[in-house]
Amino acid sequence: MIRKLLFLTLCTFLFSNVQAQQLYQPRNLKQAYENGTRSQDGAPGQNYWQNTGDYTINITATPPDRTIRGAEHITYVNNSPDSLKMLVIDLFQNNHKPTAPRNGGTSPDYLTPGVHIDSLAINGQDHQWHGGRRAATWSPLQLPKPLAPGDSVQLSIGWHYKVSKRPGREGQIDSTTYYLAYFYPRVAVYDDYQGWDTIEFTGRQEFYSDFNDYTVHVTVPKNYIVWGTGTLENPQKVLQAEALNRFQQSKSSDKTIRIGTFEQVRSGQITAQNDRNTWTFTSSNIPDVAFGLSDHYDWDAASVLVNDKTNRRASVQAAYNDTSADFHQMVQYARNALDFYSHQWPEVPYPYPKTTEFQGGAGMEYPMMVNDASYSDPAFARFVAEHEIAHTYFPFYMGIDESRYAFMDEGWATTLEYLIGIHDVGKESATKLFKQFRVNRWIHNPSPLSDLPIITPADMLSDPAYGDNAYGKAALGYLAMKDLLGDQLFKKCLHTYMDRWHGKHPSPWDFFYSFNDASGRNLNWFWKSWYFDNSYIDLAIDNVKKLGGKYSVTLKNIGGMPAPVDMKVTYQDGSTDVLHQTPEIWKNNLDQTTVAINTNKDIQSIKLDGSIWMDADTSNNMWTNK
Ligand SMILES: [Zn+2]
Repeated sequence: MIRKLLFLTLCTFLFSNVQAQQLYQPRNLKQAYENGTRSQDGAPGQNYWQNTGDYTINITATPPDRTIRGAEHITYVNNSPDSLKMLVIDLFQNNHKPTAPRNGGTSPDYLTPGVHIDSLAINGQDHQWHGGRRAATWSPLQLPKPLAPGDSVQLSIGWHYKVSKRPGREGQIDSTTYYLAYFYPRVAVYDDYQGWDTIEFTGRQEFYSDFNDYTVHVTVPKNYIVWGTGTLENPQKVLQAEALNRFQQSKSSDKTIRIGTFEQVRSGQITAQNDRNTWTFTSSNIPDVAFGLSDHYDWDAASVLVNDKTNRRASVQAAYNDTSADFHQMVQYARNALDFYSHQWPEVPYPYPKTTEFQGGAGMEYPMMVNDASYSDPAFARFVAEHEIAHTYFPFYMGIDESRYAFMDEGWATTLEYLIGIHDVGKESATKLFKQFRVNRWIHNPSPLSDLPIITPADMLSDPAYGDNAYGKAALGYLAMKDLLGDQLFKKCLHTYMDRWHGKHPSPWDFFYSFNDASGRNLNWFWKSWYFDNSYIDLAIDNVKKLGGKYSVTLKNIGGMPAPVDMKVTYQDGSTDVLHQTPEIWKNNLDQTTVAINTNKDIQSIKLDGSIWMDADTSNNMWTNK
């Protein structure tokens, strides 16, 4: 009786100890909770705010001249409770300056003189541009008078830059094909818990952007097509009748329609035959815009149903070199992706009117666009496209601060990439690729870098820690949570988080707390050990005892991550069983747990198999009855 009581008390103590676990909160976030801009249940606080802008941009590109000229008008709205004496202007193209801080070395063809600001007006008054001080890729802009809460300021900026010769995330793809991204001066994010975002753009960061409205006019010579973020507003002006007809047909077609072949484009049969054409694109409430242009790309299009309730279809387009065999299938690859993401995982209708898969020099996402290299293996080309299209949700739909918390977007894109992979090629093949591509390098690299907590600000990490934390480790954590909660509850939690925060700027804590709130469970024990601790995956069989007709298997968690695991049991009679264990077994004690096996057969051996949750040391995963 006493012993039992003592045991119970001990259990309760251990249990409550784990349950009461709090997640580390940065001090600036604590301040946001006090200010009521965020709340401890993971929802936006009643005082939540974010700033926004309206951008009208004119761009002129005349390849093979590499100079891009731009003029923009920005209305920037201060919804914060603060008077802003200055703005921060991002000039990402300065990353190409020889003197810019970069994540790694580069080649001479990457270098350019950066952005040159030709003119600046604030509220209609001309001002001298003083340029960045020590920083390269952002610049403070002192305002003539502080921008009051609720007020807006008008900026007019003229600039030019040279596209880089090196095909990459942006730049020259070939002498008459350009990809324009990170190409316009923009107001940096000023948010409720970090203030101005002044992280240098070192070439590793991808996005942290306010949600703005854009009207972009891209002027190019006559035989150039422009693809980009937003709805093409004037197809009847820039396309000839037959091409226009095919373009309109594609909006209700499941089958791929060739809007223009490279021969038709070159021989002047597709675009309006003016000296120059101006292509106009509009988009609203979107974090960024990017554009591709070429005078010799094939142009394919179709569309796919993305919202069954409203019957909304999204346009799916591809622009590519005719010699790239993989891209001939790209519209159908992308249709499959939009269909899966809209109807299966995350089961949120694709939020934009279109997507364009543009053949460039990277594997890189932009809102409504993907800039992907061509691959000889079409299955791999599809895999990359699916990953980049998954980014539509994270970071774009969700407004993620990817510069600091890359795991909040790469981790989800990697999760969705695995789930759609299972749909495409089956679980066995998808699992094999995921292990090879996303887990293997990390789990077999026994260095302290490998075990840095995922919550570590991403701008402080170099490779391989950056890649491990952002992609594989983070995705394994989300998928382990899916295993823990089951698909239905996991999706409910994911939808709660996405409904609450899409079009806003969630922090990691808003994500963790939203899951706790929506599941009705305190999952901090899991979040802490997976995302906040120096942990990795290494489970072990400590011992196996037979008591009566029951086996008791003691497992140890050496690495600290509460990973799901299959116990593969082989009996003396040669029969086998797979006993799946969810992370739940680690809930009350993260170091050690006991799993009971009720059987009247004699067990010959037990082997732990983590599947995608690969184990760092498999030498302790096996028990054999001797
Ligand atoms: Zn990615």
